[in-house]
Amino acid sequence: MIHYRDKKYEFHSMLLILNRIINYINWMDLIRRYFDIKEKVLRNLGYTIGEKGIEHALMDGHHRRRPRACGLTVHTGVGCPIGCLYCYIYDMGFPSGFKRYPLNVDELLYAVISNPYFVPGREGTLLAMGSVTEPFIPKARELTFTFISRMRELVNNPVQISTKYILDTDDIKALYDLDPELSILVSIVAYGSSSVLEPSAPPVEKRIGFLLNLAREGFYPSLFLRPIIPGITDHEFMDITSELVGRDIGIVLGGLRITLRIINNLSRVMDVDMIKSRISSKIDNRQKYIDLSDLKSNIKRRLLDMGFNVYPAACSANIISHKLGCRICKWGPCGDLDNISDPNYSAIKELAQFMNIDDYIDIHIHRGGITLVTNRSIFRDKLEIYRNILKTIYKIPVYLKK
Ligand code: SF4
Ligand code: SF4
Repeated sequence: MIHYRDKKYEFHSMLLILNRIINYINWMDLIRRYFDIKEKVLRNLGYTIGEKGIEHALMDGHHRRRPRACGLTVHTGVGCPIGCLYCYIYDMGFPSGFKRYPLNVDELLYAVISNPYFVPGREGTLLAMGSVTEPFIPKARELTFTFISRMRELVNNPVQISTKYILDTDDIKALYDLDPELSILVSIVAYGSSSVLEPSAPPVEKRIGFLLNLAREGFYPSLFLRPIIPGITDHEFMDITSELVGRDIGIVLGGLRITLRIINNLSRVMDVDMIKSRISSKIDNRQKYIDLSDLKSNIKRRLLDMGFNVYPAACSANIISHKLGCRICKWGPCGDLDNISDPNYSAIKELAQFMNIDDYIDIHIHRGGITLVTNRSIFRDKLEIYRNILKTIYKIPVYLKK
């Protein structure tokens, strides 16, 4: 178990590195701006939450987890009572009840912003809420709204929410006032079959109405067609989308993960052979991704014909809602690449010097991204942080090579 004092020491070493960055970089570069902001915001938040609050934040998972493809996931609750039959969170140990997240909003912000991988700012780390809980469930709503508002005010990172819950028009207006660029994904996987697959979720017709209402009030929301369930979603997506044609609403296609528990659940209400035939390994308690590439391309083709903008992943919708650009992965490019900065060799080099890894890496900027060549493995953690910072800021692939 990591002792709090060790965590605190690690954290202060990181702050020392950040301070050196702030003090020594002499030009007003992107990197300098990012770390300058980070240090100031944490100092102010630290005054507000005090020693005890800092202790809570530094012990929290938001402080240490590495961003995933969709960005850094943020949770305002623990567990979900909706119990969709295809949901994987119960296999990850999350409960079927719901508890508000144990940190207050400023502690949660401190935990996120102090994460060594977190780059503050509009072009910084993408944040994704709703991956393992329902952020608009009434008990979580206040924390979710306040987090969005404070995040916008303090560092303005792009935030995305995925939800099945419906907000009324007053709440939508209030949310728009807090963050008009917020990327909102409304999850729908089935039309006629929804009542058996997700019996406790709000009715599909209401979720479709919610999407229309979000667009009417000024957001650029997306339908989150996730998970695509073979034999269901590919038959029902036309019913889901027919009312959305011609509206300012994007569509994100998402994958399906299964475990033995999920297959057993689904087998009570549908024929699961179409899912099982897509997986060659043994189905057990570990989450396995199902290959849906053929279904996804068919669905995508039909949706494009109907005039929809179809996005390959949730992060893509977040990038577009915030009018940014990204070409990190093979699914891109996404958004407008003119809205991202070109890599600056001097700034990249300087950052390596301040992180004390400069002697061990060669930096190559090329058309495909940035390659860092190193023969040292002992700096792996630092290198990963460095690599993530560059990837986040420039939104291009950053490769590590020996
Ligand atoms: S609403 Fe989302 S988190 Fe809750 S059970 Fe359904 S899929 Fe899982
Ligand atoms: S290129 Fe698109 S899909 Fe890939 S990480 Fe960037 S935003 Fe996401």
